[in-house]
Amino acid sequence: MSARPLLNRRLAGLGTTIFAEMSALATATGSINLGQGFPDTDGPREIAEAAARAVLTGKGNQYPPGPGIPELRQAVTEHQQRFHQLTYDPDTEVLVTAGATEAIAAALLALLEPGDEVIAFEPFYDSYAANIAMAGAVRVPLTLRAPSFRPDLDELRALITPRTRLLLLNTPHNPTGTVLTPDELTAIAELACEHDLLVITDEVYEHLVFGSAHHPIAALPGMRERTVSISSAGKTFSFTGWKVGWVTASPALVSAVRTAKQYLTYVSAGPFQYAVAEALRLPDSYFDTLRVDLLRKRDLLVDGLSSAGFRVFNPEGTYFITTDITPLGEKDGLEFCRSLPERCGVVAIPNVVFYDNTEAGRSLVRFTFCKRVSVIEEAVARLRRL
Ligand code: PMP
Ligand code: GLN
Repeated sequence: MSARPLLNRRLAGLGTTIFAEMSALATATGSINLGQGFPDTDGPREIAEAAARAVLTGKGNQYPPGPGIPELRQAVTEHQQRFHQLTYDPDTEVLVTAGATEAIAAALLALLEPGDEVIAFEPFYDSYAANIAMAGAVRVPLTLRAPSFRPDLDELRALITPRTRLLLLNTPHNPTGTVLTPDELTAIAELACEHDLLVITDEVYEHLVFGSAHHPIAALPGMRERTVSISSAGKTFSFTGWKVGWVTASPALVSAVRTAKQYLTYVSAGPFQYAVAEALRLPDSYFDTLRVDLLRKRDLLVDGLSSAGFRVFNPEGTYFITTDITPLGEKDGLEFCRSLPERCGVVAIPNVVFYDNTEAGRSLVRFTFCKRVSVIEEAVARLRRL
């Protein structure tokens, strides 16, 4: 074999995702996993039964249609209408994907030329950097800084160059919990229109907002034709393993993203699409209960982490809490997270891996609260012994 590295230059350094590393560490050490964001209680029983019924009655067991089954595309449009007053055509403006992850990948691969610049808020969800690299594009971070983790819109304006092709947004934002305000979104939308930029917006936590509401940028003037909106069933219905996501956008954008999606997975898992179509039509009370239940858990973990000595940044959305470990006499979040299972049997995620500008994230550590109350309480008891 030649000495040439097997992994190509675009992917060099991406290694194993932090979620895989930390969940493996949790399993190996028998620790409580407050790292990777997956609930320890499955979603609604009737939705699981709908998936089982689909398998047993032969719905979706053979290749479903490329854009997604019509029932799910219809349900996605009804959901966009019900919660965000956004109107989409189920035949031309919806694409079902293998989770939001594939939607993000397909959108970036479809819309970027090599050398294009993509502005994204850092810390960014790890697949963004990987997918931008796969597209041969250049990521340009706008750093969200503690304690507010709000975007500096003058800085955003200054980052735009003639090579900027798109803005990659994530609201509610993982891992900081920031939810963009209507004013911030309006300013971002104006910049997008002024500089003729495309926008990809990752809204997988759209239902996990506490207090302030989630606002989709696609609803703002001039944005519908330039925005690819992405969401997924994983977080909203607590079935992260099903990997059903979707894109809503103009026919031209959906057509571009579908072109890439066809050659990534061709289609996404059939039977789960029937179940997710039912899930999207659950009554408002389902979505309210999800939020109220998570709010209680957020407050429990915020208080617990504060009492254990962390500096806590209260999230407005998502099911993650970012903390600073400096008050514990610690500086390095990566080292801290790698040693935490052995020290006290808890796993967390070091935010530094989501930054290009690593200094801004070195001492930050993320914990998830999408776990049972008893599990959160036990984790807090362990962390207090630190
Ligand atoms: N975007 C963000 C911000 C996430 O936190 C996640 C993890 N759920 C995803 C995308 C991926 O979603 P999915 O599991 O539907 O692929
Ligand atoms: N979105 C989840 C998180 O941020 C993890 C998803 C994954 O493992 N890729 O924790």
